[in-house]
Amino acid sequence: MTAAVKRRARALGFEKVGVVRAEALMEERARLEEWLARGHHATMGWMERGLERRTDPRELLPGALSVVAVALNYYTPHGHSREEGRGKISRYAWGDDYHDVLGEKLKALLAHVKEIVPEVQGKVCVDAQPSMDKAWAVRAGLGWIGKHTNLITRDYGSWVFLGELLLDVELEYDTAREEDHCGTCTLCIDSCPTQAIVEPYVVDSNLCISHATIELRDEELPANVAGHLDGWLYGCDVCQDVCPWNRFEQPTPEPRFEPRPGAVSPDLEEIASLTHDAYVERFRRSPVKRAKLAGLQRNARTLLKS
Ligand code: SF4
Repeated sequence: MTAAVKRRARALGFEKVGVVRAEALMEERARLEEWLARGHHATMGWMERGLERRTDPRELLPGALSVVAVALNYYTPHGHSREEGRGKISRYAWGDDYHDVLGEKLKALLAHVKEIVPEVQGKVCVDAQPSMDKAWAVRAGLGWIGKHTNLITRDYGSWVFLGELLLDVELEYDTAREEDHCGTCTLCIDSCPTQAIVEPYVVDSNLCISHATIELRDEELPANVAGHLDGWLYGCDVCQDVCPWNRFEQPTPEPRFEPRPGAVSPDLEEIASLTHDAYVERFRRSPVKRAKLAGLQRNARTLLKS
């Protein structure tokens, strides 16, 4: 059964898959609580809510016994334009919304499990479900958390989306974890334009360009972020771009992660003058819609003024 699940996961395109017991994430919860207590989640108040659900899969799926953790490579070999008047969009948001792509694949995996065990209950978790994706990926041996706090895989770097399938059946569990291979490197910490990695493995979202350009929608960008955007219109990849482990990046075979037209380095004037209808049309089923039109246009205006 476990081998069949892993085989099908790979056939569905997941580059990495591991299976672990569904249990409370006690240590991870303690670290999350400390991070929240320090206020590092900034405006993301939703992170404080439902900690029980977030840290115990049995709260998401009663009777859950197993967590199938998966990683999907989204790297495509394209780069940002250096042309004047263009903004940079974070790599993860160039193609179709990963919630849709991962969700579809995980649902197909669940359907396969149901073919083998018709009475099985399962739940698909892709970001929107309050599940600790990185914690499960680490427990399942998919990679380690880098000092920039993203999950790093040895074979694909950090350009991976994470998700889980919870199941109420017992499986054979992976026990080997990937070691931390950051060593003495501090490139991500040293390169962050706003010093948002306040100590190794700790990001303060209040200082993070990604948080400001994506999550802050109805207010001006904080001065420390606005002054260091360096062209970032939506998100920021600096800490991942400089990471030596991303020399192992490989083009994804998933065509839905190929950039949509104009999704890598949009024209800033064009973004600043988008009507609501044009925005909805252009960013339908794209992760960029998370910033909302107001947030995106504020980012564009800030870049145009700089
Ligand atoms: S840049 Fe260096 S320290 Fe940062 S995550 Fe990569 S290997 Fe680790």
